Amino acid sequence: MTPQHIKLMIPGPVGVEDEVLAAMAEPVRAHYGPAWMEIYDETLERLKRIFGTQNDMLLFTGPGSAGLEAALGSLAGRGDKVLVAYNGFFGERMATIGRSHGLEVRTVEAPPGQPVDPEAIRKRLAAERDIQAIAIVHLETSTGVLNPLQEIVAIAGEFGVPLILDAVSTLGGIPLPVDGWGIDVCVTVGNKCLAGPIGLVPISVSQRAWDQMERKREGAHGWYLNLRTWRDYAIKWSPWHPYPTTLPSNNVVGLLASLRLIEEQGIEAYYAHHEQAAQFVRGRLRQLGFEMLMPEAHASPLITTARPLPGMDVEDFRRYLLEEWQIMIGGGLEGLRGKIFRVGHIGKAASAEYRELFLNGVEAYLKLQGFDVPAG
Ligand SMILES: *Cc1c(COP(=O)(O)O)cnc(C)c1O
Repeated sequence: MTPQHIKLMIPGPVGVEDEVLAAMAEPVRAHYGPAWMEIYDETLERLKRIFGTQNDMLLFTGPGSAGLEAALGSLAGRGDKVLVAYNGFFGERMATIGRSHGLEVRTVEAPPGQPVDPEAIRKRLAAERDIQAIAIVHLETSTGVLNPLQEIVAIAGEFGVPLILDAVSTLGGIPLPVDGWGIDVCVTVGNKCLAGPIGLVPISVSQRAWDQMERKREGAHGWYLNLRTWRDYAIKWSPWHPYPTTLPSNNVVGLLASLRLIEEQGIEAYYAHHEQAAQFVRGRLRQLGFEMLMPEAHASPLITTARPLPGMDVEDFRRYLLEEWQIMIGGGLEGLRGKIFRVGHIGKAASAEYRELFLNGVEAYLKLQGFDVPAG
């Protein structure tokens, strides 16, 4: 099995279009100067349109966690209070990142599989008026719960507390109007819904967030993972090199290729494509007797999380799909290991080819195991 033959239907990384791979294979470009800046500026303009924002856009190198670490460590200084509201693995990681920076992390927790409760956040913000920032995950990818973001943003706004959003698994995949909803710092990655290369982290930053960072200048952490450093260089080294370090130019070119494909198709059509993929897969899984972990009210079309049929071994099922069908799906993380499986509907996983193949693989497995397979 070579990597080319494995179809990724996990919630990330995701398979990308050939145009993206071809763009990445072009000769290495210098990451500065006039010819480069045309590529860079077009990439940022397209990102801003997809984010629905006029805020500043930064393009970090690193995993999504680096962007979240930069956001937390820039908006709050050592000893400052921040509120992390979480209901699963990725939200809990933001609390860990905050503590690693010496922040006083307050938490509002919901059990994995349940949405975060906006009223609990309101109570916490009312009780502790010196909270400097609130951080939340939009789609908790470990379970598939889509948190009630708009309500939470409104509450953060009432208290004037800047909001850091982990939109790593949603931005570009479902509507998320950053300015329309008032999100101060919005972090995503190149290789989830944007279906570009791994290793790029687009971040939008509002004026309110910059103002707060200005006040924290002395207390904020680090140099590279400090949003202020990026802002300083955007001004100081504009227009030839408006960032502090080397950029992975091949990856940026790859991301631009993907953004062009998305915008050619139209962002609304792109959202609809994920919706169709999810409904198609969930519809057939339900017919086959699977129960979804998430009611539709708290689900997104980007990932399906389902429980195994009674008596079915999730890890054996995943191994079978990988070995016999060359399809990789996700399992449960940590406490949910063996209890659920996760199917991504982003990147190439949303294609008719992948989703049909996946369902054929599921049916073949169920037949092999002696389960009843009703006609589809
Ligand atoms: C994928 C993902 C991350 C980022 O993980 P990295 O490995 O740091 O890139 C963060 N949050 C969510 C919700 C994710 O789905």
